[in-house]
Amino acid sequence: MSFEKTGDMIVCDNVFKIYKTKDVEVVALQGLALTVERGEMMAIIGNSGSGKSTLLNLLGGLDTPSAGKVLVDGLEIEKLSQADLKRFKTVTVGFMWQNTARNLIPYLSTLDNVMLPMRLLGSIDRDYARSLLDYVGLGSKEKRKLFELSGGEQQRAAIAIALANKPPLLLADEPTGAVDSKTTADLLKLFKRISVELGTTIVIVTHDRFVSSFVDRVTSMCDGRVGSEFIRRHYDLLDIPFQEISHEEYGVLDRSGRLQLPQSFTEGINRGSRVKITVEDGKAVITPAE
Ligand code: ADP
Ligand code: MG
Repeated sequence: MSFEKTGDMIVCDNVFKIYKTKDVEVVALQGLALTVERGEMMAIIGNSGSGKSTLLNLLGGLDTPSAGKVLVDGLEIEKLSQADLKRFKTVTVGFMWQNTARNLIPYLSTLDNVMLPMRLLGSIDRDYARSLLDYVGLGSKEKRKLFELSGGEQQRAAIAIALANKPPLLLADEPTGAVDSKTTADLLKLFKRISVELGTTIVIVTHDRFVSSFVDRVTSMCDGRVGSEFIRRHYDLLDIPFQEISHEEYGVLDRSGRLQLPQSFTEGINRGSRVKITVEDGKAVITPAE
């Protein structure tokens, strides 16, 4: 299979990540396949330990896969030179860490924090940093430091920092993990605005199912693999009460030809067992084998 620069922002194919410690090996990702289109805003939802942070670290160029391919913005991260990797991390991706406090340097003001990624590129644009803080609703708080901001404000600052170098991709690890549901809704509306107005591709990983109401596509993650997908039927998100937003569940056929069935479909089928696939009237029919 060739991996020429594609139109997709993210392509993961058969990705494995194995952590080796002194006496155990943990297979955190096992044959993961994922494609994210440019401009998409999507969420990956899975329980703790399902491999979400591991995946995001690979996408952000912070770690490399044990096997398989990870392409971001047409680049195979593993093959980048040190200089290109540094550029990738400062220019291509904006990253929000799971640990909220890690996003802001505590002794710097919010404005200085936003200018920090610019400093890494050697071109500081104070006016743009200020406009970003305005954009995320922190215009009046540019002098505040980490401990002078609420949890939601810290996350808004983290978003401004992640956007400082105008990256085409924003990766957010549990961005609403430490805030209440009202703040969660406000933050997700901000992500949506960024997606629509700036055209940024946004991938959010979370254990919080509430997040799914705010995104176009949800992929479930379990045991280091992505499962079925839910695609939203309504498009004018900001005007619709969450209760009315519905997602349609789809199975996924990955690049290696593996089919992940929708969860609702597999209820009643003994998983891990053989199934029989037949084609009847042009439709695939799956039945448990005798
Ligand atoms: P999630 O973010 O979904 O909670 P993680 O990606 O953090 O999941 O972890 C997936 C699995 O990999 C877990 O079993 C976790 O204990 C293990 N793991 C994560 N990071 C490391 C590491 N640096 N060393 C060893 N095991 C790890
Ligand atoms: Mg995690």
